[in-house]
Amino acid sequence: MTFLIDAVYFITTAVFILGLKQMSSPVTAHRGIVWAGIAMVIATLVTFGAQDISLDIASINLQLMLLAIIIGSGIAYFSAKRVAMTDMPQMIAMYNGMGGGAAAAIAAVELVKLSSATQSDVVTHDATMQVLAVLGAVIGSVSFSGSAIAFAKLQGIMKKTLRLPLHQLINIVLFIGVLVTGYLVATGQPVSFNLVIIFFILAIILGVMLTLPIGGADMPVVISLFNALTGLAVAFEGFVLNNAAMIVAGTVVGSAGTLLTQLMAKAMNRPISNVLFSSFGSGGGTAVEEDIEGSMKEIQAMDAAIMMAYAQKVIIVPGYGMAVAQAQHKLKELEDLLEARGVEVKYAIHPVAGRMPGHMNVLLAEAGVDYDRIFDLEEINPEFPTADVALVIGANDVVNPVARTNPDSPIYGMPILNADKAQNVIVIKRGKGAGFSGIENHLFYADNTRMLYGDGQKAVSELIAGVKTL
Ligand code: NDP
Repeated sequence: MTFLIDAVYFITTAVFILGLKQMSSPVTAHRGIVWAGIAMVIATLVTFGAQDISLDIASINLQLMLLAIIIGSGIAYFSAKRVAMTDMPQMIAMYNGMGGGAAAAIAAVELVKLSSATQSDVVTHDATMQVLAVLGAVIGSVSFSGSAIAFAKLQGIMKKTLRLPLHQLINIVLFIGVLVTGYLVATGQPVSFNLVIIFFILAIILGVMLTLPIGGADMPVVISLFNALTGLAVAFEGFVLNNAAMIVAGTVVGSAGTLLTQLMAKAMNRPISNVLFSSFGSGGGTAVEEDIEGSMKEIQAMDAAIMMAYAQKVIIVPGYGMAVAQAQHKLKELEDLLEARGVEVKYAIHPVAGRMPGHMNVLLAEAGVDYDRIFDLEEINPEFPTADVALVIGANDVVNPVARTNPDSPIYGMPILNADKAQNVIVIKRGKGAGFSGIENHLFYADNTRMLYGDGQKAVSELIAGVKTL
């Protein structure tokens, strides 16, 4: 029986990794998610065959597990169906926190078991497992409470970053507290129950305190970091439970999360330490606004349509506002119309445009935009000077030239899409709203920029109507 279970775990692990691999391309991503999901379901079902789980339906454990699975799956199914694409990051934060919490809960059960163990149990138990349970517990608890704060910030429940007096000092004291209690719990024979409780409380508070001062714009990086930590916690608890599927799934999530964290930090040109210990995106950075020269110049949709219809090359730069306006289908319609007139149309995607990695790619793919028309920052930036028009729709921070020019700006050094280098720039946005980082955008005041005010979808519809009359 054990051999059979391990064999199924092995196969599901392979399918899980293959599914993950397929997620790296938009063409195969959907299939990858289905594969990984099926592998997870099989691994979960097989776990019921594990020796220490009673399959007797009268068993209270089995009933509780089935109840938890039914409630959890129901909530996940309906919330995933209803969630707006723009709310996806907070949903990921929540799921991620649940994963960390589950890993911490497994550790808690194991450690509490040890605290009530008899002397003979203590002699036979595995000391390495005790240490791994503690490691998983710390990481899982920090990830759980940190993700909850990240969720609250992205959902708008918690509007401001919070930095207490002597915040860093409190964090250091908490960290030492977690280390000391963790060490005592990891080496205790038997483990003190009260110490286990204090250890968990300190770890949970540490997660909250670490996340509270982090600015909103850095939340995606933080969520990705917590995701990596959750994977690691699950892998540790996999060792504790001697469950191969958990070890592999946790390790894969841990490494994927680490890579994503690094890529996102690189896309913002910020070291992880700066993300964790600065309040970027918390509303500062007004200093650069005083230096702005020029004024915002409005354009009417018909004039913008003429500009684009008679252009040779148009580069579309979508951002968070395009997602809010759900303007991707209209953009595709505009693209088709322009191409029918012989205009070359390309899409420029910044790695952190929108509110999650790949946000724009998913929306454009949904609207049927060809993948070979979508270009990454490095590929498209050299092309902006040859574009007659850069159409910026709902993007702000990712095209803000101060990132290149003003060392005092909080986004200085972040690679941006060089839309300002196009011959003409048309910016679609509703008004004078700032971007996610809260700072002014010098691009909107540039000589070659014209503002087309309005909701993204409505404005593109007007452009379409305009082009059709030409
Ligand atoms: P921004 O958030 O910087 O700007 C979005 C702009 O869209 C706003 O200026 C807003 O202006 C406009 N807008 C909002 N709604 C609409 C609408 N219905 N129609 C038209 N325009 C609209 O977006 P970017 O994509 O440029 O930048 C992403 C930012 O988010 C970066 O700072 C990034 O670091 C951060 N971030 C990225 C994540 C990721 O992983 N991709 C996750 C979380 C944050 P107005 O109100 O005037 O309309």
